[in-house]
Amino acid sequence: MSERILIGVAWPYANGPLHVGHIAGAYLPADIFARYHRTKGNEVLMVSGSDQHGTPITIQAEKEERTPAQIAGENHQLFLDSWQRLGISFDLFTSTSTTNHAEVASDIFLTLLDKGYIYKATVSQPFCPHCQRFLPDRYIEGICPFCNSPGARGDQCDECSKPINAAELINPHCRHCGTNPQFKDSEHFFLKLTAFEDRLLAWVKEQSHWRQNVLNFTTRYLEEGLKDRAITRDIEWGIPLPLDGFEGKCLYVWFEAVIGYLSATKEWAKSRENKEEWRSFWQGDVKSYYFIGKDNIVFHTIIWPAMLMGYSDLNLPYDVPANEFLTIEGRKLSTSRNWAVWLPDYLSRYDPDPLRYLLSINMPETSDGDFSWREFIRRNNNELVATYGNLVHRVLTFTYRNFDGCVPEPGEFDARSQSLLNMAKDTLGTMDELLSECHFREAIRSAMSLAHETNRYLDEKSPWKTIKEDRQAAATALYVAISVLSSLRTVMYPFLPFSSQRLHEFLGYKGSVEGDGWQFRSPVPGQRLLPPEPLFSKLDEDLADEETSRLGQTHLH
Ligand SMILES: [Zn+2]
Ligand SMILES: [Zn+2]
Repeated sequence: MSERILIGVAWPYANGPLHVGHIAGAYLPADIFARYHRTKGNEVLMVSGSDQHGTPITIQAEKEERTPAQIAGENHQLFLDSWQRLGISFDLFTSTSTTNHAEVASDIFLTLLDKGYIYKATVSQPFCPHCQRFLPDRYIEGICPFCNSPGARGDQCDECSKPINAAELINPHCRHCGTNPQFKDSEHFFLKLTAFEDRLLAWVKEQSHWRQNVLNFTTRYLEEGLKDRAITRDIEWGIPLPLDGFEGKCLYVWFEAVIGYLSATKEWAKSRENKEEWRSFWQGDVKSYYFIGKDNIVFHTIIWPAMLMGYSDLNLPYDVPANEFLTIEGRKLSTSRNWAVWLPDYLSRYDPDPLRYLLSINMPETSDGDFSWREFIRRNNNELVATYGNLVHRVLTFTYRNFDGCVPEPGEFDARSQSLLNMAKDTLGTMDELLSECHFREAIRSAMSLAHETNRYLDEKSPWKTIKEDRQAAATALYVAISVLSSLRTVMYPFLPFSSQRLHEFLGYKGSVEGDGWQFRSPVPGQRLLPPEPLFSKLDEDLADEETSRLGQTHLH
């Protein structure tokens, strides 16, 4: 029976291009998961969009002396281009600037207000006397009250990932001019998180299938006691409060961005025959997964669930498989110091699958992972090219040349051949389980083991030698190897969609890998192969130095 799966992926701030940290943290695992479920024949809806509001955008706009709308619009286009080229297969990638999103966000705000889960209070807000403006979120910096690290912002500390109220910052200063802010009274709205504390704790305790890091972080955060959080800001750029008398105030970007999962589903449904179809991904028998980096855990395991509990009878998250961080060459990724590998740069020089491969096999699932160019090239050359690509190429070119471009007719399978075919079937089963539980690293490792074992099998059988004295034995060995390739195209597909689709075509199949389903399928003897070409290309080892030297150089981004 087919399942229904909603996949929500973190909404990237449209203040700059994407880097490999974003990809390893959220977008690649989400895409692997979506492709796997689609191949299983499940109904998948994968949504996200660019987060166009908030101070990350306005600060970037001020820096470039352009409007926030220009900055956000331009980066949104860059995102779309990157998704397409890296093969991140969103069903909808929208943005927070749509009318639909503003309507859905306003509705949730008003409903929660009506039910008493949002209340108004006068608070003292940081105000810069020099810049003559309030300092929301990223306009103010100081020392984190929780972990004492400098450079904490008015909404969150990057070091310990805890949300912060600006008034809690130690030694706060205006990020623009460095002046110590005054505090001025301003009326704001608060989300009454304290009202959900007990329900949230009880709910979280039932989520034994969550990753340990997500469960621990969330439980600790809840046990320290929740605080109500201001969900409005003194800022012009964003969704205006849907109430009279609050001009110059907008919904806090975090409050409205998480609503994007719901508004994007509604936007998707509007393009369908049945506008109410969004319900099939939010109510009843459907599992919702949220793919995010670990800095976003609280928003997806506490704040968004609290909003949903207060709003109406929509499904709470089923799983939030947050990843840890990716370091670059052993150092913490930093966009401001340009210690990052930017996706548009990468895609201008290399193919998508080698990056997807490295980030999958090193995925920071349970601890931080590292990206290094040396390892990128080594894994490309030794694993993608030498182990997997070469296996495909030698089997297909030899078969193509010696068997009239067709899948040969096998003879009887000996025990060795049978055990390899069984391993191919078992790999589909093992990976099915691993992927359904979001264990991506382990899953791709077992796909590579199958490729390794097939190389060993071919070394033993050496059809290139036996063909002279025993053509049938060679045909059988090649048939077995081709059957394994047929499995590899399926199990590699979620990770390496481009090369898998090519392999699918080389094997003489029509349509798409996805359309063939998650199953073991031996090709029919006589099936016409396509002239094979290498799936991957070897990279020059000197590129590692060249690429590494780009890191940390400040150029326009
Ligand atoms: Zn901190
Ligand atoms: Zn200032």
